[in-house]
Amino acid sequence: MSLAGETGVPNKRLESKSAVVTGAGSGIGRAIAQLFAQEGAVVIAVDQNQLSCQETVQLMERAGGRGYCIQADVSSASDVERMVREATQAVGRLHILVNNAGIYRRAPVQDMAPGDWDLVMAVNLKGTFLCTRAVLPQLMEQRAGRIISIASRAGRQGEPSASAYAASKAGVIAFSASLAGEVRDYHITVNAICPGGVDTPMAKVAPVLPGSRLVPPVDIAQVALFLASDESQAITGAAIEVYG
Ligand code: NAP
Repeated sequence: MSLAGETGVPNKRLESKSAVVTGAGSGIGRAIAQLFAQEGAVVIAVDQNQLSCQETVQLMERAGGRGYCIQADVSSASDVERMVREATQAVGRLHILVNNAGIYRRAPVQDMAPGDWDLVMAVNLKGTFLCTRAVLPQLMEQRAGRIISIASRAGRQGEPSASAYAASKAGVIAFSASLAGEVRDYHITVNAICPGGVDTPMAKVAPVLPGSRLVPPVDIAQVALFLASDESQAITGAAIEVYG
């Protein structure tokens, strides 16, 4: 008999779960999508880039997993509403949301264009709010669910020449902690992950802080898997630091 049979713990930690992962066409989002699919979840990979999103689904399928690709811009309320409608039609019901899509812009404050500030806030912070708002009614109706948002070390400590990015991620952490209190009675957990440097295309334009190293995206995916799984049911409102 397998260990799983002896302990009653399923072999795959996300069996019979469905998960929406935004920004799944690259880096951390792709790693989360692949790991979740490997652990039995049906994954809705969402990205503004249709091609890279389809590539993620192919990678999941080649490894024996199941997934769908939905092209959407997380900063657009109408795109997000459509995405959640299509995702729900595809899989029946949603259990897990990972707010991962994000962008990074560098400039000292005096040189930062207001348009860049707005864009970073629109994708990183408003996008997190829009996706969460769209998925939440189903999770509340089910009285169960997991919401995981990828914030950043910058949201904890600030980052010189990346103030908009840092402020947007501090907003994600505060949003997540606030919502955790709103939905506690619905057995929905809401947590943030704060990576340091992660080896993805985004890291090519962001500096690695002294004393830290780039970690592979799968290291962040493993933390997301734990937060998505039943084992983390007692953790909500947390911002977990994964600084490598
Ligand atoms: P990445 O490789 O650039 O991947 C981000 C993905 O999100 C890309 O596929 C991107 O599409 C997509 N995306 C961007 N804007 C979008 C929008 N409006 N709607 C839908 N999809 C959108 O970045 P990553 O490093 O994996 O970052 C993932 C998350 O981790 C981000 O929230 C980031 O802030 C956070 N993070 C990263 C690091 C790091 O060191 N890499 C550290 C801390 C936190 P395009 O390719 O078309 O832009």
